[in-house]
Amino acid sequence: MSRPVELIKSQEPGNLQLSALRESGPIIHAFSTREGGLSKHPYATLNLGLRVGDDPEAVKENRRRFFSALGIEGSQVVRVKQVHGASVLVVDEVLVNKDGFPRLLLDEGYEYDAMVTNQRELALVISTADCPPIFILDPVRKAISAIHAGWRSTVKRITQRALEKMAESYGTKAGDCMAAIGPGIGPCCYEVDSLVIKPLSKAFPYWQELVKEKENARWNLDLAKANLRLLLEAGVKESNIFSTGLCTSCRADLFFSHRREKGRTGRMMNVILLRT
Ligand SMILES: [Zn+2]
Repeated sequence: MSRPVELIKSQEPGNLQLSALRESGPIIHAFSTREGGLSKHPYATLNLGLRVGDDPEAVKENRRRFFSALGIEGSQVVRVKQVHGASVLVVDEVLVNKDGFPRLLLDEGYEYDAMVTNQRELALVISTADCPPIFILDPVRKAISAIHAGWRSTVKRITQRALEKMAESYGTKAGDCMAAIGPGIGPCCYEVDSLVIKPLSKAFPYWQELVKEKENARWNLDLAKANLRLLLEAGVKESNIFSTGLCTSCRADLFFSHRREKGRTGRMMNVILLRT
């Protein structure tokens, strides 16, 4: 498995960071937690999702708190409509306004589950509530990626697609890259049935190493491990892959979990930004 890592809880509540990534130089990154916000149950307290039934004013203030703790302005945020696919968006100059701010791609209906960029000061944001968020940093070519790696995207090898897009667009070599796997539902809690196992077994010849079989045609799936394997196969060094190792379903104190709360819950945001 990926290396045990030191997690940094920032001074202000609301986000977790990986020390190895923080020290890697030219980026800001964070995984939001549910701490330090205004929202009430079942969105308590730092819900960052506007479309889940929470009070929009509370969400706006929560977002302001989360991003301002990182020194990021709302106008720097790049978001897309996540659809559990495997399309990778290259966030280039065309997607930035004349005044240097990113366009509102979410409102424009851009459907992607991964973004890559070499543009400075753009905050790539992935919204989650169980699906693992993944970041990739190429410190040599100075490029980043943010990935939403739910099971559907994982069986479509989205992590490798993002690396391929970075290679094509920026000349990225996987061997130079660092990768971080954020909080997601763990193999302790993520029970799936044949609907998931069928495509999983087609995509991964070694799929049995990614699951634990239970009774009644049920399996517990390890999405973080599946994506770790994809990163390794693509050529990312094991010593450069880091994981928070935290399960969103187990850690009700820290995270929203769609599965645990049967859909009625908030959303976390996961952000990576390449500094000037
Ligand atoms: Zn768990």
